[in-house]
Amino acid sequence: MGRKNPDTQRVSPNEIKSTGVKLEDSTKISMEGEKQQSKLGRRLLLFSAPFTGHMNPMLNLATILYSKGFSITIIQAPYFPTNPAHYPHFTFKLLDDEVLEKYSKSPEIDSSVVISAMNRTCEEPFRDCLGQILRETAVAEQDPVVALIADPMWAFSGSVAASFNLPKIMLRTGNMSAFLVYCSLTLLNEKGYFPPQDTTLEEKIPEFPPLKVKDLPSESDRHILQAIVEGTTTSQGVICNTFEELEDYAIAKLQQTLTIPIFPLGPLHKHPANSVVNIGSQDQTSIAWLNTQAPKSVLYVSFGSIAGMNKDEFLELMWGLLDSMVPFLLVIRPKLVKGSEADDPLPEGYREMMGERGHIVKWASQLEVLSHPAVGGFLTHNGWNSTLESICEGVPMVCKPLFADQNMNARHVSENWKIGLKMERGVKRDEVTRAIRKLMLEEGAEMRSRITDLKEKATHCLEEGGSSYKSLERLTKYLLSFETFQAIKE
Ligand code: UDP
Repeated sequence: MGRKNPDTQRVSPNEIKSTGVKLEDSTKISMEGEKQQSKLGRRLLLFSAPFTGHMNPMLNLATILYSKGFSITIIQAPYFPTNPAHYPHFTFKLLDDEVLEKYSKSPEIDSSVVISAMNRTCEEPFRDCLGQILRETAVAEQDPVVALIADPMWAFSGSVAASFNLPKIMLRTGNMSAFLVYCSLTLLNEKGYFPPQDTTLEEKIPEFPPLKVKDLPSESDRHILQAIVEGTTTSQGVICNTFEELEDYAIAKLQQTLTIPIFPLGPLHKHPANSVVNIGSQDQTSIAWLNTQAPKSVLYVSFGSIAGMNKDEFLELMWGLLDSMVPFLLVIRPKLVKGSEADDPLPEGYREMMGERGHIVKWASQLEVLSHPAVGGFLTHNGWNSTLESICEGVPMVCKPLFADQNMNARHVSENWKIGLKMERGVKRDEVTRAIRKLMLEEGAEMRSRITDLKEKATHCLEEGGSSYKSLERLTKYLLSFETFQAIKE
């Protein structure tokens, strides 16, 4: 079983500063521990974007690289940082940034506001933090730093690392098919596909099968996507949370065009180093409820950690779900329904009509839920982590993408890998019912057989000699080829 949801470990920056999980204390303990444990005598700095879907894979990567013998320092933004107490073998550093710290006290702040603040206000704090770590590790004769591994959402991380002569590797937490599209925005623009126009939405894009124009990202994302491409292509390498057997075409195409090495290491959460269950689950009730259900009978419904939907869309989904007569485990996290102030956005009487057939929580331990024998399908927004986690457990999907790369992911799920059914925008109650019944009761067997095949490939690629196993060996050698950073001792 995979490690439990790391979101349960996230705290406010104040808690880290003022309670039992004091940053400095945990830093000291882990630094001392690492002196004995670091087999390779080399330190890596990891800098994640402060969102669950980015933090989870970065922490999984950190655990894998630690298991290979590197010392690990995690640099965190003060926006719901991960609780260091759960990772005593890593060193944690918190950026000093008042804006994000203030946002961390206001969970209602929109993620787009957080993203623009990240690149507006964190560059100097990051430069200070990096300088401090490099000096400290040299003065204290800790394992010397060899590279920064950053999320490309931090547009400035490359130039800051370069100013210290520190090599920078990117961790791409989304898939490589979407990244190939991001790298091709100029071409797509020249061909008239991007930005999507109302008149061409249904057109297929011959250069990127099976995508349609409407699956492409929106114009408002262009700036951040260009920064992601620029940051990645000017780095010294890219690690990705995918595996060759799943995305051979996109990986090969990128390998032909990029001059940097690509390291597909995924699925990161399934690597043996991440198999230790060491964190208590917040969500005891879901598993207890699933234990009472028949094998493969339950539809798990969750839309990730950030995305929101409008009230009309939410209600069509909820009624469609109820009408399907299929048992369901439903996650309604705060802020899922845009503009809804109500504690419970469900219509009056819904819970009574649902009765014992459904179970509703605010947050689920998704890895545990997906691997439960009672779960037979996943109604998902197709965030890349959720998609990959579903593949790894052999659970076919009903796709209801909401934004960003989710439309492209859903298209690959439904038309490339054929392991799910995609619902389009503006979906109505009866279509929701039809899609759910089709997956759970009618055509699910074929999709389950195809996804079981992918699940096996996801398992084998991590075993000795497998594609991701070999990729990790290659990455380890590559990281060891970098000079260690020599700071001038003050
Ligand atoms: N997740 C979870 N419980 C939930 C909802 C989400 O543990 O109730 C986890 C899920 O396992 C995944 C992450 O949150 O690892 C969400 O990442 P994803 O890329 O799917 O979507 P995002 O939140 O970035 O939109």
